[in-house]
Amino acid sequence: MRKQKIVILGAGYGGLMTATRLQKTVGVNEAEIVLVNKNEYHYETTWLHEASAGTLHHDRVRYDIKTVIDQNKVDFIKDTAVEVKTDEKKVILENGEIDYDYLVVALGGESETFGIKGLKEYAFSIVNVNSARQIREHIEYQFATYSSEAEKKDERLTIVVGGAGFTGIEFLGELGNRIPELCREYDVDFKKVKVICVEAAPMVLPGFDPELVEYAVAHLEKKGVEFRIGTAIKECTTEGIIVGKGEEELEEIKAGTVIWAAGVRGNSLIEKSGIEAMRGRVKVQPDLRVPGHDNIFIIGDCSLIINEEINRPYPPTAQIAMQQGETCARNLVSLIRNKTELETFKPDIKGTVCSLGEDDAIGEAFGKKMVGSKASFMKKMVDNRALYMIGGPSLVLKKGKFNIF
Ligand code: FAD
Repeated sequence: MRKQKIVILGAGYGGLMTATRLQKTVGVNEAEIVLVNKNEYHYETTWLHEASAGTLHHDRVRYDIKTVIDQNKVDFIKDTAVEVKTDEKKVILENGEIDYDYLVVALGGESETFGIKGLKEYAFSIVNVNSARQIREHIEYQFATYSSEAEKKDERLTIVVGGAGFTGIEFLGELGNRIPELCREYDVDFKKVKVICVEAAPMVLPGFDPELVEYAVAHLEKKGVEFRIGTAIKECTTEGIIVGKGEEELEEIKAGTVIWAAGVRGNSLIEKSGIEAMRGRVKVQPDLRVPGHDNIFIIGDCSLIINEEINRPYPPTAQIAMQQGETCARNLVSLIRNKTELETFKPDIKGTVCSLGEDDAIGEAFGKKMVGSKASFMKKMVDNRALYMIGGPSLVLKKGKFNIF
């Protein structure tokens, strides 16, 4: 009998979790497993704010995919998926095509700019290793240029962060550590640097406990961050941003760097492939399959699942992507073994920790609130756990965070 072919697109948290769980359970004669990813490496998306600020080298946030997959069981293809032809059960890659019996789409998120003029062209987003490297280099270039120019342009040293959600706040925390270093390195007066966080919503970190949010804001303000809450970015230009509280009241903030950290959408391949989605995210069935496509699973940031308790979608997180990867692998095993009953995915939210730089954080875990070094310790444990879940103790030893005290 012909072996069934499982193709996994994306080797992020969801895709790698699916692949590593399948390789533990599926026999070589049971199914062919193919993993496609645009790079030879996996990166820890949840650490990208550190690489972007320059507090962690970009090589620390990535590792070779082949070190965690069993190449006797999983074929790895380095290529970019362009489109899925669902009728033909085929994926079009940049350098060829691949057919499948079962497909897992785990391509992660993209930045969503909500049509705000100039953001795509002039703002940076923290999305992958390349963008993180570019942000770090750009900020450093602004400091180096400021030091060497005869007529100093102070706005070079203004960094605007659009969005006071998780990514924005974690990045601001890293900047709080990095900017004093940059000032020393480039002989720049710290008072000349401005870091402004612009948020359209009336609050910072929506969904977090108000006491913890207060702690985070106070901590970041102490490090020099200025918050402009309830203020929308109307446009991004080569000179900075234009903000406003309404059409009438507009203000220009000149800045050498603008980071957009306020919107995530699913991968655009989804829409290109004609799969029904809301901003690239597909409302999947409880077993994580796509309605009307019984052989396609969508997990991670490309999927949308509803938290029934509040009747709102769960925010896209690595925690959920990894748990979905486990369920998806078990459901694939059932399908190739001709079992019809599939598992329902239920997120098990263990807590959330938001870092505020190297040695501070806020969080809630196991029903308890935490701040300061305790929360920061917990954050590092969460990061190490993600490594452990995919690559076991050897990956933790190679890439783990041990600068705990
Ligand atoms: P990803 O892990 O992003 O992986 C997608 C993979 O697909 C990548 O390897 C990419 O290279 C590959 N790929 C993309 N397009 C293609 C293509 N066309 N062809 C081939 N390969 C492709 N979540 C938390 O739970 N906790 C946190 O503390 C946290 N912090 C965060 C901090 C930052 C700065 C950011 C940006 C996100 C954070 N998140 C956090 C969210 C979390 O990172 C995402 O929800 C998670 O990465 C989603 O996992 P995924 O498997 O869907 O995609």
